[in-house]
Amino acid sequence: MKRITVLGVTGSIGTQTVDVVVHHRDEFEIVAMSAGRNIQLLEEIMQTVNVHHICVQNKEDKDYLAKKYPNIHFYHGQEGLMEIATLPNVDIVLNAIVGFAGLLPTMEAIKAHKDIALANKETLVVAGHLIIPLVKEYGVALLPVDSEHSAIFQSMNGENHQDIAKIILTASGGSFRDKSRDELANVTVEQALKHPNWSMGAKITIDSATLFNKGLEVMEAKWLFDVDYDDIEVLIHPESIVHSMVEYQDTSVIAQLGTPDMRLPIQYALTYPRRQPLINGKRLSLADVGSLHFYKPDLKRFHALALAYEAGRTGGSMPCVLNAANEQANSLFLNRKICFLDIEKLVEEAMRAHQVVDNPSLDQLLEIDQWARKFVFERVGED
Ligand code: NDP
Repeated sequence: MKRITVLGVTGSIGTQTVDVVVHHRDEFEIVAMSAGRNIQLLEEIMQTVNVHHICVQNKEDKDYLAKKYPNIHFYHGQEGLMEIATLPNVDIVLNAIVGFAGLLPTMEAIKAHKDIALANKETLVVAGHLIIPLVKEYGVALLPVDSEHSAIFQSMNGENHQDIAKIILTASGGSFRDKSRDELANVTVEQALKHPNWSMGAKITIDSATLFNKGLEVMEAKWLFDVDYDDIEVLIHPESIVHSMVEYQDTSVIAQLGTPDMRLPIQYALTYPRRQPLINGKRLSLADVGSLHFYKPDLKRFHALALAYEAGRTGGSMPCVLNAANEQANSLFLNRKICFLDIEKLVEEAMRAHQVVDNPSLDQLLEIDQWARKFVFERVGED
């Protein structure tokens, strides 16, 4: 029996994790979980899984729930996340919180010797240089949940690291993959939220449309698989069937394929190195799919991807600036305060204004994250 803490249980990944767990109750038990502000959905999930430790974002919600459910331990805020990520009876923490807020609980969980199933890619983007040494020091497993990284992980099973020539990350291209830059100027939030292949949380859906998501994934891949940026290639693949590939020195390319269903990489991170049937999973029929397409992204058209490669190659505190500025700009777009193309413009302005710090400490990252958010916010205020 694997005992799990699910961080971000009310999100897209979180609810799909619950689905995986309830179909394999003999294998997994959720002992703790966290929600942000969606208390109604949290209470629905509490009807499905019997969990004794629950963290929410606000104290008022915690007090309300503690009164209503006296037999459950409730926690709140970042402190609470760290407590439920480090409970003694937890084996693995599945982190499906969105954004920088996922960083501290991941670090604390590693220090408490928990394995990590990581959906929260922002953790590695911002602090890969701190996380990877911690993972090695504490001897825990860091298992990817992101579908592309799960595909790469699966394509590396049994292979030697020195035999890898490059990683090929596939990208659906998001909601606007067929639009020209001129057409992007006037796109709406509603259009951006209509992803062609995946149903995901709002932030990552917008990130998929800008391609910042793919940029974050490039940085995530660098840290997870210890490869240079020159050896990570992005290919647009509109069908989202080939979830990513690894090319080896002997020219062999190994890929993982499947119908788009996030429950598969979630489940694989929990069952690794074994596999289990995916309940209600749709089998892939390549005969039905017929043809698959791949093409190189135009980095002028997808400027966000170029910025992400630049931030990754610059290293130090620059990925933290890109991430924080993007989180802030993404949220301003979702709140209809800025246009779609302003997102990458604001991120680039924050990057240009930043003095890079090499090898930043956690405290420096927390400060730089705040600086970049404020920078973007004030730039919008000035316009
Ligand atoms: P959602 O927005 O659907 O869910 C985010 C979760 O985090 C919710 O439970 C939310 O709570 C909680 N949350 C948000 N902010 C905070 C905070 N400040 N403190 C505590 N909890 C918070 O996101 P997704 O599930 O789509 O994505 C989660 C992560 O997984 C992201 O990093 C994303 O990039 C990654 N990912 C997602 C994929 C997907 O298919 N969705 C695919 C691959 C990676 P509440 O809603 O209750 O406020």
